[in-house]
Amino acid sequence: DSAMYNAKNSGKNQFQFYIESLNIVATERFSLERDLARAIDRDEFVLYFQPQIDLATRKIVGAEALIRWMHPQKGMVPPDKFIHVAEESGLIIEINKWVLLKACSQSNEWVKDGFPALSIAVNLSGYKFAHQNIVESIRDVLQVTRLDPGNIEVEITETILMQETEETIETLKQIKDLGVRIALDDFGTGYSSLSYLTTFPVDVIKIDRSFVIGSTMHKNNRIIIKAIIAMGHSLGKKILAEGIETEEQFELLKEYGCDEAQGYYFKAPVPATEFTRLLKKGAL
Ligand code: C2E
Ligand code: CA
Ligand code: CA
Ligand code: CA
Repeated sequence: DSAMYNAKNSGKNQFQFYIESLNIVATERFSLERDLARAIDRDEFVLYFQPQIDLATRKIVGAEALIRWMHPQKGMVPPDKFIHVAEESGLIIEINKWVLLKACSQSNEWVKDGFPALSIAVNLSGYKFAHQNIVESIRDVLQVTRLDPGNIEVEITETILMQETEETIETLKQIKDLGVRIALDDFGTGYSSLSYLTTFPVDVIKIDRSFVIGSTMHKNNRIIIKAIIAMGHSLGKKILAEGIETEEQFELLKEYGCDEAQGYYFKAPVPATEFTRLLKKGAL
């Protein structure tokens, strides 16, 4: 009897505990969403830049812009923690505009400072991609900053390409018509269909870090990397390898004829002022 009572009782406690944790999750989520809505006005976002290196010369030929949120209480919040919240609440549209404007303004400053032209890559989130008025946003930003469209690149993922194919192709074509290049991010991780490479107007293929991590260890990863490079080049695309962390990986990718690379081996993402110092060096 008393054992039965205890079992029931602990069951109830567990249930209560479950409800309470759900409440905590919901409350945290709500406060994150509320803070996020104020973050742009309060100037809490910062763009970091990670150099993109020409593998043959080790010169800096571009940068990927990566957002950081400097939360007044929580400190630096990485994008993995808030981009999905921004997507679900629709705030991502404003954030995308902010990132575009910041990246283009920064790129323009580097041009004015006399550095060789760089291509700055901006991540555009997949959420309702074809319905974000992205083309208008890019056009506006190019007009305001008077930046050469060749100096920016838009990064999209395979997830975008899977939804609403017709609208997406049209949007991407319009972006290209503006003179902006398109990079396919995290290549190889989605339910990737190779036909994407001929259906969508993509200029750059970014080989996902997961293939590079094991590249010096696993023969199969090396075979896949080689194949992506060969196929990409035959289709006239530029190939960039993500997440290079070791000298061995760098040597391997160079040997395979990969065009460009990014990764901690060269440099982790840094604030604009520090990136300017890297530009003065020119190569890494
Ligand atoms: P991603 O676009 O694939 O960006 C590359 C991520 O890998 C970055 O993380 C970068 O810091 C990290 N990384 C670079 N080199 C290495 C390396 O050698 N080793 C390892 N382990 N990691 C490396 P981060 O900045 O935390 O961004 C995470 C993701 O958040 C990005 O993945 C992207 O999907 C998203 N994100 C970042 N910034 C933005 C943004 O401005 N807008 C949108 N919509 N999404 C963004
Ligand atoms: Ca580039
Ligand atoms: Ca990216
Ligand atoms: Ca990536």
